[in-house]
Amino acid sequence: MKHVIALDVGGTGMKAALVAQDGSVLYEARRPTGREHGTDAVVATILDFAADLAQEGRTRFGAAPLAAGVAVPGTIDEKNGIAVFSANLGWRDLPMRKLLGERLGNIPVALGHDVRSGGLAEGRIGAGRGVDRFLFIALGTGIAGAIGIHGGIEAGAHGYGGEIGHVVVRPGGPQCGCGARGCLETLASASAVSRAWAEATGDPDADAAACAVAVDAGDPAALAVWQNAVDALADGIVLAQSLLDPSTVIVGGGLAEAGDTLFTPLRAAVTERLTFQMPPKVVPAMLKDTAASLGAGLLAWDLLSMEVTA
Ligand SMILES: [Zn+2]
Repeated sequence: MKHVIALDVGGTGMKAALVAQDGSVLYEARRPTGREHGTDAVVATILDFAADLAQEGRTRFGAAPLAAGVAVPGTIDEKNGIAVFSANLGWRDLPMRKLLGERLGNIPVALGHDVRSGGLAEGRIGAGRGVDRFLFIALGTGIAGAIGIHGGIEAGAHGYGGEIGHVVVRPGGPQCGCGARGCLETLASASAVSRAWAEATGDPDADAAACAVAVDAGDPAALAVWQNAVDALADGIVLAQSLLDPSTVIVGGGLAEAGDTLFTPLRAAVTERLTFQMPPKVVPAMLKDTAASLGAGLLAWDLLSMEVTA
């Protein structure tokens, strides 16, 4: 069975799969990233995991994987296969593609950005299946996004395309890690909602999931916190709608786990803001935490099809 390695390197854990050409997952594995052991150890762990996956493929299917796709966080130079920077994992200008290629017997290796890889998978085999233009938004610790077009992702000229988390929706608002104030992620990320709900309740352990439960119970303080995030998110989505006109907005990440508690008021808030823009479908992501790994697998297969074409 022809297969590729798909690997998603996260801040705490790595998710991997062996993926067939039709996108079906033949084998899955997870392993801790181990960032507490330092950057060199993280890189060694990634390379070891990839080599073990290749061995798994040989054992199970009698042949080595044809290619590998790896999704990593931070700033990526996809063209040159370099993991430029990750605050979380500590590397700078790491030649990830070269290192993996050497370790895996010089099979082709695609390096991708974690959120863009996740968006790619949602667009092709998840919530955006069959959609030509979509916007993927991940509401997690921060907010990241990916612009889907013609079956691929528009990464921009410098690899920063789709960073909707840093669109300023409240000028002069909360300080963002990027240096600006009032960025969308300071108001509508899962962390932002957790912070706001902890402040409202005086309970430092109160989080976004607890806030969603309180919203469902009709707690007015929770509703106020929630609506504040929903309004900010709707402002961001409408801005994107004016600029990109996607047919579908796919919302994933921790906060999207709230389901209708998020999507019902969010759709209403988007609709009431639209003037001339056509309303996008606002839908939950489908692939959950395997999106980036599946997207890495798609990148690997894309690489092989490009080689055949060339
Ligand atoms: Zn920002």
